[in-house]
Amino acid sequence: MKFKLPNLPYESDALAPIISQTTIEHHYGKHERTYIDNLNHMIEETVYAEMSLEDIVCNSEGALFNNAAQAWNHIFYFFQFSKSGSRVPKGKLAEQILSQFDTFDDFKSRIEEAGIKLFGSGWVWLSADENGTLFITQSSNAGNPLKDGLKPILTIDVWEHAYYLDYQNRRGEYLSRIWDIIDWDVIESRYE
Ligand code: MN
Repeated sequence: MKFKLPNLPYESDALAPIISQTTIEHHYGKHERTYIDNLNHMIEETVYAEMSLEDIVCNSEGALFNNAAQAWNHIFYFFQFSKSGSRVPKGKLAEQILSQFDTFDDFKSRIEEAGIKLFGSGWVWLSADENGTLFITQSSNAGNPLKDGLKPILTIDVWEHAYYLDYQNRRGEYLSRIWDIIDWDVIESRYE
């Protein structure tokens, strides 16, 4: 199999209680594994078998895109967290956030609002264009800003499977608490 489920850089209970061990085991261990398994089967003996995951995301549609993008999105999501890490941006990204938003809290509330207002399943994204300008966008289902020529730097999964075991229907509470596990050193390195 070409693509493998990468080991997370933290233990499965490291993000509790914000994201519980049970959620990690189901969301990453089962949902993400299924997307990767589906992707591997779909690319067998096709031109996609020689492509990077990012290239498959950018060059596919339909069911293959859905599985490839979900595989990519979840790795991007789960690798932006840490048990203890920098909880505020520094450097160029902090400067850019404060040049486009009133305060860091204002920036966070815009992202939370985008997540609350997204109808159904999808993702909220912070991305940058080639000039470093930031964009907060929503995507339905497996959508990914790579398709629009933007560079993703942070994402929040707002499919119910991301929060239902821990927060039930309270998507807003999940969004407001997720800041306590986001590692801004990771986000910053994606921006630079
Ligand atoms: Mn998910």
